[in-house]
Amino acid sequence: MRYPYKLMELGYDYKALEPVITEKTMGYHHGKHMAGYTNNLNAALESRKDLHEKTLVEILSDKELLDSNSAIKNNGGGVYNHTLYFNSLKKGTKPSKYVVDVLSKTFESLDNFKAELKKACLTQFGSGWAYLVVDEKKNLKIVKNGNQETPLVNNLTPIMTIDVWEHAYYLDYQNLRGKYVDELLSIINWDFVEKQLKEVL
Ligand code: MN
Repeated sequence: MRYPYKLMELGYDYKALEPVITEKTMGYHHGKHMAGYTNNLNAALESRKDLHEKTLVEILSDKELLDSNSAIKNNGGGVYNHTLYFNSLKKGTKPSKYVVDVLSKTFESLDNFKAELKKACLTQFGSGWAYLVVDEKKNLKIVKNGNQETPLVNNLTPIMTIDVWEHAYYLDYQNLRGKYVDELLSIINWDFVEKQLKEVL
């Protein structure tokens, strides 16, 4: 992805994740929140011609740049995180033997991976994200961060993520973040997770 950014095409319609995520939530989340990050990122980059040829991953890996420009950090992170999140969701996929084996090697079992990911979601205080990532030594880890930070700045490659901002779940689950995460874990796009893992491992 490079400037000028376009609102991500989901590849599925706003009803596709129901009943876990309702059409109403998707409409606000993708159509309003993510659209806002996308437009604001373009506005923040408009005068920065030096960054137009850089990929979003390159921009979000540049700690010095992010520390000096919160509009690029927040809106760039917003575009990146939401792209990963919406790609991480799909009804009806199952983890292949490859995915189960890879996750079990680090997290003991698929169920334990889900439990660890849920724990990260519940212990992120306030708005933020939990991720499965791969580090430079190809170790799998679960990490979390606040607001629209991303693991890229710590040289970690995100595989999939869960959005724990209230806008992701409040219309459907109100304050029940744990219930939202439990339900969301039933619609992980395991085919996407596998593709992502195979690109880095
Ligand atoms: Mn969000």
